Amino acid sequence: MKGFEYLQQELDQMKEQGTFRRLVPLESEQDARVVINGKEVIQLSSNNYLGLTNHPKMKQAALESVEKYGVGTGSVRTIAGTLSMHEEFEQKLAKFKHTEACLVFQSGFSTNQGILSAILTDKDVVISDELNHASIIDGIRLTKAARRIYKHVDMEDLEAALKETQEYRKRIVVTDGVFSMDGNIAPLPKIVELAEKYDALVMVDDAHASGVLGENGRGTIDHFNLNGRVHIQVGTLSKAIGVLGGYIASTETLRNYLIHKGRPFLFSTSHPPAVIAASSAAVDVLLDEPEHMERLWENTRFFKEGLQALGFDTGISETPITPVIVGDDALTHKLSDRLLELGVFAQGIAFPTVAKGKARVRTIVTAKHTKEDLQAALDAFEKAGKELGIL
Ligand code: PMP
Repeated sequence: MKGFEYLQQELDQMKEQGTFRRLVPLESEQDARVVINGKEVIQLSSNNYLGLTNHPKMKQAALESVEKYGVGTGSVRTIAGTLSMHEEFEQKLAKFKHTEACLVFQSGFSTNQGILSAILTDKDVVISDELNHASIIDGIRLTKAARRIYKHVDMEDLEAALKETQEYRKRIVVTDGVFSMDGNIAPLPKIVELAEKYDALVMVDDAHASGVLGENGRGTIDHFNLNGRVHIQVGTLSKAIGVLGGYIASTETLRNYLIHKGRPFLFSTSHPPAVIAASSAAVDVLLDEPEHMERLWENTRFFKEGLQALGFDTGISETPITPVIVGDDALTHKLSDRLLELGVFAQGIAFPTVAKGKARVRTIVTAKHTKEDLQAALDAFEKAGKELGIL
């Protein structure tokens, strides 16, 4: 069909520059090792931090819920698509997060997209870290509020932003808890201190910290003992929880407000029973089986130190997200392709996901990797790195 030649031209250009990417289908379940093109390889690209995507208790809970409640809900939450299990799960999640209330959205992305436009007007201002996730950036684009972007984790610039914006009705400081491309943790104690000093709200996107940091994986707020001092915590059910979805953990007022005004919540069909049942079982796993988180951190230390000992630039990572910073987009993709030939699936990430000149192969270990898996991956990184002149 004719009509998209202008888009094809752009794609052809990407092919010439070596930045055109194909989707990589897994031919197995998501795990520490996966099958790609008929070959078993070590998975270092998923957000399956705790290996819960196939946890037996979660699979069982999902299967039982399908038997009892079927596969879909047939409606948005606000019309006819709220099952009692949705509400029970939200109460359980709120208790887990030490907050008054929770509200589940269809994805972490739509959670971030929906909040700011719902609660802010042109009398307000959003103050946002420059490296916040795309869903926060899109969320900001959808508000009528003014915006002030501060330099990445730069607390002097944040304070300057708070000083400059005192005439607005409401100010909200928004940050990722763990930054998804560099794996560094936001300086939340200072952010909260400044927000309190200047009377601003704080919103933290804990997508990469839930299940990873804090007691039993409660996230960065718990990690820094800031419970009760962050107004909006955003989490996902898609990463360490191993299923799909996003949520806010906050007050009853915000929950009720978003039920009325959060557009992605209002206008999109609710999660099927299996998603909620498996996510609910995941909270029990976080509470009852701390060994997954312990294993995750052991593996993180082993792998990060291994990459650094080989001489790779792993940037400022403090978490299981460890980037191997290469710089050049095409060279990054070459490294990723060579790693796959050597039995390691570690995706290259280039512009526009990261800044130009900052392309990287991003690695994420999981609790399920064995030391043998990780050593084999390090050996592959060493070989590919030397072949390509990165080491
Ligand atoms: N926030 C951050 C920081 C993320 O990394 C992601 C996932 N890429 C999301 C939100 C979106 O979450 P989800 O995949 O559940 O839509």
